[in-house]
Amino acid sequence: MKFETAAIHVGQEPEEVTGAIIVPIFQTATYAQPAIGEHKGYEYSRTHNPTRTAMQECLAALEGGRHGLAFASGMAAASTTMTLLKQGDHIISSDDVYGGIFRVFEKVFREWGFDFTFVNTSDLSEIEAAIKPTTKMLWMETPTNPLLKITDLKGAADIAKRHNLISVVDNTFASPYFQRPLEHGADIVLHSTSKFLNGHADVVGGALVTSNDQLHERLAFSQNAMGTIPGPFDSWLILRGMKTLGVRMRQHEANAKAVVDHLKSHKRVKTVLYPGLPEFPNHDVAKKQMSGFGSLISFYIDGGEGEARSICKSTRVFRLAESLGGVESLIEHPALMTHASIPREMRESRGLGDSLIRLSVGIEHADDLIADLDQALASF
Ligand SMILES: *Cc1c(COP(=O)(O)O)cnc(C)c1O
Repeated sequence: MKFETAAIHVGQEPEEVTGAIIVPIFQTATYAQPAIGEHKGYEYSRTHNPTRTAMQECLAALEGGRHGLAFASGMAAASTTMTLLKQGDHIISSDDVYGGIFRVFEKVFREWGFDFTFVNTSDLSEIEAAIKPTTKMLWMETPTNPLLKITDLKGAADIAKRHNLISVVDNTFASPYFQRPLEHGADIVLHSTSKFLNGHADVVGGALVTSNDQLHERLAFSQNAMGTIPGPFDSWLILRGMKTLGVRMRQHEANAKAVVDHLKSHKRVKTVLYPGLPEFPNHDVAKKQMSGFGSLISFYIDGGEGEARSICKSTRVFRLAESLGGVESLIEHPALMTHASIPREMRESRGLGDSLIRLSVGIEHADDLIADLDQALASF
């Protein structure tokens, strides 16, 4: 079954009692049992809920995986993943990870006795060099947030396999429409479903997908034991969002390309970061492992914090907000917003300076988006 068909049909058989074409929101905590020890696979909604099951099955199909698990947020999914490890274990992570991932690793899990090394995973030799006897996990984001750095998924997964590491790929930025890390050898895919998968900026959610039965069993155990689950309504909204992922991603990308072309020739823009640009580092790798380059764009302006503040205050179609992946276009300043939890020195040494701006290009008309950016860039 092709992607767009799976998005609309997998896990979504008409409901048995009424034939309802849409999976109902099973807003129930518990399920009547005809006799002790007899049930229809549903006992309590922390463990299983039919709306969540539908969403999990559909997402697993989109990622080309066997098992999906949904969570209350991307961070709940990430935190639950850490239950695969124990005190003293070492994790190698991309250095340009989502700010919240960096924060939970450094401020929560390091306190619990986990050991982290952050490296530029775009350079496979840096991964190899960071491996210690205690290394158990390789955590990657590609494209990264907000510099959109690309890691060679197959190369990294091969290293992980050779050293017996669990490889985890945060696939939030690409979405399974453009990139399916399991097909390149990754063990686990993580999503913040708050972003492209839901796509309408009205839910916070997360998910994990794997084809490894043992990893799935352990993660499903933790999902239930820790209770890091989403409710039925949130599961339903994400399932609804996923139905249109294909058409949305195609439009997101077409708009992003138009915006990139425009920004590249703008005199107040110094550098545009977009994996689809032939001159972008590791563009060849991106081309090999992605079927499209997404709609996140970062750019350095010819100016500093003052000018960046002026641009972010002046856009009207692009709303100034954290998050990404919704139908509406957003603008943000990583250093002062999403990545403020990373110490300044570390941030600046990685290129997250005051002149950097990130866009999440939505599916409005490209002409309006370009006109909006033009007037904002003229504001200083
Ligand atoms: C948003 C995001 C997260 C965290 O997800 P939440 O749903 O906000 O908890 C993790 N990784 C990436 C790449 C994200 O964009």
